[in-house]
Amino acid sequence: SKTTIGLQDLDSLAQRSFPLCMRHLYTKVKEDHHLRHGGRQQLGLFLKGAGLKLEDALAFWRAEFSQKMGVEKFDKEYSYNVRHNYGREGKRTDYTPYSCMKIIMATPGVGDHHGCPFRHFSQENLHAVIGGLRLNAHTVDDIMGKVRNHHYQLACAATFEGVHGCQCDGINHPNQYFEQSQKVLN
Ligand code: SF4
Repeated sequence: SKTTIGLQDLDSLAQRSFPLCMRHLYTKVKEDHHLRHGGRQQLGLFLKGAGLKLEDALAFWRAEFSQKMGVEKFDKEYSYNVRHNYGREGKRTDYTPYSCMKIIMATPGVGDHHGCPFRHFSQENLHAVIGGLRLNAHTVDDIMGKVRNHHYQLACAATFEGVHGCQCDGINHPNQYFEQSQKVLN
């Protein structure tokens, strides 16, 4: 019973149902019309897992990247990678989206936007992002406390609960965050 999502749904889904790691990447690719490899993989495989079809994925990345580099360069240098992630090139492996553990263990460098905001953002930056979610002060303190104790996935679960106003079963995968959110909202 796998649902699919379309290109036209992405903006509102990102706003309402993406975990912070994916919202950040989505915002960045819309702002910069580019993402480095780690970000393309983390967001691209998540979108695939969320039900975005290959044709829509190609259209999404092409629409963003071509604003910086033109369609030809995108098709030549980046479309292969998108098809590859969908198992249409190379060894034809059907690559699976990254788990929280894998994302938390990543080591993003300067200019990278992949990783987990709870793990990789500075306290100030994270506080600003959490502050923008219109949660009550107690919830914000709770989230920041969990982060200080290195409980990143618990902080993400507390964020989910604050944003959705309901309990969550725990977060161990960004696609699981997305699916739980869609279940609550739909
Ligand atoms: Fe993403 Fe998982 Fe981090 Fe939440 S805990 S922001 S889903 S990597």
